Amino acid sequence: MTASPPLPDAFLDACDRRSINLQPAQQEQLSRFAVLVTRKNSETNLLAAREVDDIFMRHIFDSLTLEPFLRHHASFIDIGSGGGFPGIPLAILLPETSITLLEATGKKADFLSATADRLELRNVTVLKRRAEEAGRDPLHRGKYPCAVARAVAPLRILVELALPLLETGGVLLAQKGRAAQQEIEEARHALDAVGSIVEAVHDVSLAPDHGAVVIELRKASPTPDNYPRRPGIPAKRPL
Ligand code: SAM
Repeated sequence: MTASPPLPDAFLDACDRRSINLQPAQQEQLSRFAVLVTRKNSETNLLAAREVDDIFMRHIFDSLTLEPFLRHHASFIDIGSGGGFPGIPLAILLPETSITLLEATGKKADFLSATADRLELRNVTVLKRRAEEAGRDPLHRGKYPCAVARAVAPLRILVELALPLLETGGVLLAQKGRAAQQEIEEARHALDAVGSIVEAVHDVSLAPDHGAVVIELRKASPTPDNYPRRPGIPAKRPL
């Protein structure tokens, strides 16, 4: 394997400012991951073309900002992982944490499996399924202490996809932007319906114009049996 390019200084500085401590082997894995995503992007749109140049700050660093919220969880599921964000950078940073990457699109899920193999990420399992199906499968329903999601759906839709997968008392960490507060307002009914409460809204922006927010929700009671609805319905007819 050819040596992978060094990580950009801006990325390493940002990690330093957040006390994200990367060992040399983890830096190498992150660099190889960036190469794999960039190569694959020409065939399958894992990222918008304009975002590839800034993959370290826009995607990898953004993924790693979840780490402080995950320290006490032995496992979590990344819903709609796409090209592996935030799940793969977090799997590199947290090798002791068991991480399930849930992704409905076949080609993306195949990329995730191949990438986990290439990077020898033994803590990663890939699930090629829709969240609506996994949320009805006894193997997955109510089984996760924590779920994360980035750029998957507005909060009122996301909670119907994610909450069924959580154990009661479990936590959903939704990575959002500037519109987070408005999404929470619009999700009031959905939150009640699936038995969830907003515990905290964390601003994780590096600069005032960055606008990066983590909404932390807790599953306060078991999800009623009628959720999630059939595949596609949560997005088509949001609660
Ligand atoms: N989380 C990644 C990121 O931040 O780059 C991907 C974001 S992409 C915009 C949304 C991803 O969620 C897509 O790969 C899509 O296939 C997946 N997705 C959307 N709805 C889903 C569902 N109901 N079940 C599983 N995956 C879903």
